[in-house]
Amino acid sequence: MPDIPCPPAPRVLGIAMPSPLRRLFDYRPCQTAPAAGWQPGLRVRVSFGRRQVVGVVLECREHSTLPLADLKPIEACLDDAPLPADWLWLCRFTARYYQHPLGGTLHQALPTLLRQGRPLQGRTRERWRVTSQGLDAAPERLARAPRQAALLGMLRQHPHGLVSQAVLAQSFTRDQLRALADKGLVERSEEPLAAPPLTEPGRLLAEPALPLNHEQAATLAALHEGLEAFHPCLLHGVTGSGKTEVYLQLIEAVVARGRQALVLVPEIGLTPQTLARFRRRFRMPVVALHSGLTDHERLDAWTAAASGRAPIVIGTRSAVFTPLACPGVIIVDEEHDGSFKQQEGLRYHARDLAVARAHHHHIPLVLGSATPSLESLQRALAGDYRHLRLTQRASRHPPARLELIDLRGRRRQGGLIPPVLEAIGETLAAGHQVLVFINRRGFAPTLACHACGWLAECDHCDARMTLHRQPPLLACHHCDRRRPLPDACPECGSADLRPLGSGTERTEETLAERFPETPVYRIDRDSTRRRDALEQLLGEVRRGAPCLLVGTQMLAKGHHLPHVTLVVVVNADAGLYASDFRALEHSAQLLEQVAGRAGRAAHRGRVLVQTMHADDPNLRLLAHQGYDALAEQLLEERRAAALPPFRFLALLRLESPRDEAVQALAGAAARALRDHLGEHRLDVDCLGPVPAPMERRQNRYHLQVMLTAEKRSRLHAAVAWLATWLEAEPAARRVRWSLDIDPQTL
Ligand code: ADP
Ligand code: ZN
Ligand code: ZN
Repeated sequence: MPDIPCPPAPRVLGIAMPSPLRRLFDYRPCQTAPAAGWQPGLRVRVSFGRRQVVGVVLECREHSTLPLADLKPIEACLDDAPLPADWLWLCRFTARYYQHPLGGTLHQALPTLLRQGRPLQGRTRERWRVTSQGLDAAPERLARAPRQAALLGMLRQHPHGLVSQAVLAQSFTRDQLRALADKGLVERSEEPLAAPPLTEPGRLLAEPALPLNHEQAATLAALHEGLEAFHPCLLHGVTGSGKTEVYLQLIEAVVARGRQALVLVPEIGLTPQTLARFRRRFRMPVVALHSGLTDHERLDAWTAAASGRAPIVIGTRSAVFTPLACPGVIIVDEEHDGSFKQQEGLRYHARDLAVARAHHHHIPLVLGSATPSLESLQRALAGDYRHLRLTQRASRHPPARLELIDLRGRRRQGGLIPPVLEAIGETLAAGHQVLVFINRRGFAPTLACHACGWLAECDHCDARMTLHRQPPLLACHHCDRRRPLPDACPECGSADLRPLGSGTERTEETLAERFPETPVYRIDRDSTRRRDALEQLLGEVRRGAPCLLVGTQMLAKGHHLPHVTLVVVVNADAGLYASDFRALEHSAQLLEQVAGRAGRAAHRGRVLVQTMHADDPNLRLLAHQGYDALAEQLLEERRAAALPPFRFLALLRLESPRDEAVQALAGAAARALRDHLGEHRLDVDCLGPVPAPMERRQNRYHLQVMLTAEKRSRLHAAVAWLATWLEAEPAARRVRWSLDIDPQTL
């Protein structure tokens, strides 16, 4: 959507609304124009159907496709100045790239309070002064408006004027100010809220930076060369190689130039520990954007970033939409992490938007990871990204290799076989800590009847229910349905019901029985629901006494646990033979990250990986040569199979409680698309419809149609056509559908 130059007094405003329709809605301006004139980026309140909604002006025009007389005027303009231009650009880019309605995109990217129409303060402030006319005005002019007269009287006593807040604090209103301004008695001016004075270079840091090792220094020097332009880099460094220290020193250089740094971290990476590390280093504010903020705190952070008052912003996925007055660098830590991709509604990938944004701003971009995504790795190998490597750990020991432990035919206790339990015992006896990783919370993956083979299944999903003991119940991890434990098998009446397999609770129980002297800390979503619970547990662990940690992937990433020397993976097989082509990549990343928790300080680490597939060539490659070797092999396989990153993908996802409705629409959409593709020789392939991997979820049926293309522009053209077709199709109103560009999971 190109920016159309704005007429000074437009007759029509094209407004983006929180509506699923992919178009703007035309309204007439209201009587009072905003102080800076009509322009794109102003929030307005309009009546839309029977509701009042907040929309954003995107076009100011002379004409509409509708007769002007049919257009309603907007109710009010909510802003005096437009929303930040960089933010607006990013929203437009996002809507176009992800083929999502622009109104919905803007809405999602706005802090809640702004979405609700609350005023946006903090970037500039208004000052009101008496004009010379106002100084001379005769008192009887305002005889019928006593509040205005009182307001004028107050302003007369302040020759330099008063800021709005001071006026409103005296219980005058904005309308009274505007009324006086309309009469020419007062005038309004706007002054930027000053960014804090630049800290003197010598006083930027609150604690000295660490002296860098040779590799870190070379990396930082390379990053310093590219501070003035778009320089995408993959910082590919083993776990514990000191990537964060490199980020900190890069940020230092950026803020010393009066620019801002935006740091994106995975959901479980924004721990108090990480934040504390940033805050300890700098003498300036570090603004954190995470799910724990109140709406007011979030708005404050947003405006601080937009005004430039916040030099360093760190946040999870949605922080990529933070406006920046003076962007200097964007860093995406653990760039491979799945939490950067939003999996519902607007299905954006924050890493990919970060790339687009850095390009737009002409600033450097750093993607950091020990286990880069195949997308980023391919770009680095192809020379599109600079490939910076850190191969050594800051501590003495290199990351431990994985030792594969064959599970076949072995008796297991809480998921663990005897030699592994012995290794755990030896580690504890040596005074060290052990981390046991198991990717399943609850007591056991399901409950089974030993008489007839019945398994506890969810009524609403194609999935088994997980057995929990604390408290005792069956829970579906896909839809959150819960059921009490049955006393007897619902099929055959037998009382011989047994847990099948192991989850965190069962492993915890086994370990507590086997090592009664040693504390066992379970860390999963259930044990850390209370805020701060995780930090408290980890605080205990960091004191260093021997202990056992049993946890899910919450424990696998980011945490620095210096006393852990043995890591045990209860079962490595989840991703090995999955139907999703990315499953192996993701499970290799997870294994490498878990392994990276071992031996990060004084003592060498060991990683024991239990598997039913100890001969699997991929697993062996990962174990013997590490993630990079496996990743390069997977890239070759992807190239041969014409899969991402060598081909582009999009999914049309459809779901409905009615199986036939979703089947019919998916079939019709695929047929229409194929006809269109054939007719225009678009070089896009259409596959499906096929059932989603878990077809029934929450009692809704899920189907998908896949589009693949070698050229991204072709793929986008086809998806855009499909979206238009669906919007015009009456049957599509009864089925929920969405588009997923660059899907991460099938
Ligand atoms: P990564 O982000 O690559 O996992 P970190 O930056 O967290 O690694 O560093 C791991 C550990 O090594 C941290 O405790 C950090 O303080 C330490 N460290 C990093 N760089 C240095 C250095 N140059 N000298 C000494 N210690 C360092
Ligand atoms: Zn039974
Ligand atoms: Zn369910």
